[in-house]
Amino acid sequence: MTDAAFLRCIQPDCAATYELSAEDPFCRSCGGLLDVAYDWNRLPVPGSMHYFATRWATRQEPLDHSGVWRFRELLPFAVTEELVTIGEGQTLLQSPDVRALGLPLEPGRLHLQYEGLNPSGSFKDNGMAAAFTMARKLGRQRVACASTGNTSASMALYAALTRIADDRPMQAVVFIGEGKIAFGKLAQALDHGARTVQIAGDFDACMRRVREASQRLGLYIMNSINPFRLEGQKTIMYRVLEGLGWDVPDWIVVPGGNLGNTSAFGKAFMELRELGLVERPPRLAVVNAVGANTFCELVDRRGLRWDGGAWNRAIVDACYTEGERRAGEKEIALPHGRTVASAIDITRPVNLPKALRSLEALDGVVCEVTDEEILEEKARIGRCGLGCEPASAASLAGLRQLLARGVIGREQRVVCILTGHALKDPDVTVGYHTGKRTTDEQSKPASRPAVLANGPVQVADDLESICRAIESLPWK
Ligand SMILES: *Cc1c(COP(=O)(O)O)cnc(C)c1O
Repeated sequence: MTDAAFLRCIQPDCAATYELSAEDPFCRSCGGLLDVAYDWNRLPVPGSMHYFATRWATRQEPLDHSGVWRFRELLPFAVTEELVTIGEGQTLLQSPDVRALGLPLEPGRLHLQYEGLNPSGSFKDNGMAAAFTMARKLGRQRVACASTGNTSASMALYAALTRIADDRPMQAVVFIGEGKIAFGKLAQALDHGARTVQIAGDFDACMRRVREASQRLGLYIMNSINPFRLEGQKTIMYRVLEGLGWDVPDWIVVPGGNLGNTSAFGKAFMELRELGLVERPPRLAVVNAVGANTFCELVDRRGLRWDGGAWNRAIVDACYTEGERRAGEKEIALPHGRTVASAIDITRPVNLPKALRSLEALDGVVCEVTDEEILEEKARIGRCGLGCEPASAASLAGLRQLLARGVIGREQRVVCILTGHALKDPDVTVGYHTGKRTTDEQSKPASRPAVLANGPVQVADDLESICRAIESLPWK
């Protein structure tokens, strides 16, 4: 089975192929990113997506229960005995009340893919199931990542549970930068036994160092530059389709950081169309935070396009050079804290070319939202009974903007991806509700008071005052 799967450079004019075991995540011939590619003619592919519904009948079998591996025919790079699962992808497509969210969408038109239900509390687990499968298949004992938090939390959890020779767990090495890191996520990495290296620099610096150190020490990289991660993340789209009875929505809205999901979702639908399993893909909206808006800057303001693979590198280089110069002149805050949504606080997205390809394939758009919009949206989602972290709320904030701009129509069916759980970053939530912001960047006074702020009410230890306070609270 495995020789029908291989690695292939995404640049159409190169398209060099490599064995699955190739170590480098870049093309040795042209430096392009690599895809996991399949010779579908030699693989058993179901005739329709309905086939996957039959897996529920055998869900006591862990691979059929896994939200990643019950779709294993669509990511067939390993045989079933090799697959790693810890029960990822038990997610549900939620359908909140659009009126409660104050969104001008017709009732029933909004769905939220809540990836906070994953074992480590973020969508990263989908990718890790696939990438750990590959690491173990290659006999690797040590894995590494640079992380704003969720990648390290997920990697640490998978490393603790993935047995290698002598029944030992894998060893996980996490690179974190200076400045803000959400404590919920760091706590997970530490608790699950990852060794953490803090270096003086931002995320983008960590990313460079993890690649260099991995080459020297033979660590297996678990960032989304790893093409197997993206194979696992394709299944988020399969579960969205499953939740919609195998109907394709009009829009998928996703926050964009390193653009791994953006890349994976595009690949998922390109393949489903090639296989005749869907006719028309959805459109894709990628949402940046204003403080880390590289993708928006490149696509919307500088006109960068995939262009059938002929994307203009000079535009990217110029943008990055200017960014560095401005940072040098301290016009923008470095190393961190450019946005409260730490999971998307990334200025040099490693998957940029794949993400451009996704935009072309899914007729995508990009937008950017402010920290205030993100925090208000997070509170609104919370009121609907779904706890998500700031980066996740960017998807709803982006939807609100795209509806206002008429890009998304009120009658269209929209799926927003809620990428991570609220407990990942409780500091930000408490800061929002109490008006006491915790990090340097957030200590800047907000320009407007928080609309849904819900801080504790101070009352004397006296029943009379307590009851009066309770009765006078507004019904929220
Ligand atoms: C990693 C992460 C993101 C960013 O996803 P990319 O695939 O890197 O664009 C967004 N939200 C959360 C919660 C994350 O953990």
